[in-house]
Amino acid sequence: MEFAHVGTSLNSRSGRLIASPNVFTTLAMQAERAPEPVESLAASIAGCRHCRDVAANPLPHEPRPVAVLSAKARILIAGQAPGRRVHDTGIPFNDASGDRLRDWLGVERAQFYDPGNFAIVPMGFCFPGYDARGSDLPPRRECAPIWRRRAIEAMPQIELVLAIGSHAQRWHLGAGISASMTETVRAWRTHLAAGVLPMPHPSWRNTGWLRRNPWFETELLPELRRNVLRRIA
Ligand code: SF4
Repeated sequence: MEFAHVGTSLNSRSGRLIASPNVFTTLAMQAERAPEPVESLAASIAGCRHCRDVAANPLPHEPRPVAVLSAKARILIAGQAPGRRVHDTGIPFNDASGDRLRDWLGVERAQFYDPGNFAIVPMGFCFPGYDARGSDLPPRRECAPIWRRRAIEAMPQIELVLAIGSHAQRWHLGAGISASMTETVRAWRTHLAAGVLPMPHPSWRNTGWLRRNPWFETELLPELRRNVLRRIA
């Protein structure tokens, strides 16, 4: 099996893609061991209860890790953390943000949820709860140090990372980020050449940002769709 939805098995496909030189290939080459099988890693993630049992600030609800690991997808969607609806359904981007993201990518739901096309690995795998104003809390800070490098190294065939929001951009671009999320996204051409495309979160909360930055739709999105189209089935 070459795909693993955290908590659920998905269909297999044969054939492994040849990786292009990118940050993930470099990471995999640096690893001393062979990539961890995605299905066993997904099973380990599905059983994680760190933020309930160990964390200093425990989750007030039962953790439900949501991610899609794939040994075939060439595109990684690096998001933030599941919202309440995703937590309830166990399906990533199964909400209005997902609808907008699919529109940005130029794909239908079936293409989006085909793990041969996209791996989906947020910065925090579980719904983090709400803050005092009713907004989603940021991704659990415990998650990435425990799981992220293992997940990335298990998918050395990834060619393009869509780094959605500042948390993912900080992890995937490191010192390459700019002073603000807007400036980081504005430098998208430079980052894309290195295999990482920074994007804002597709939440309705960013509708104003999209109006203020029309170049995102007129310049970045057409290039994003071209990059997606040549990497999906
Ligand atoms: S957020 Fe990550 S570290 Fe915390 S319980 Fe979920 S999978 Fe485990």
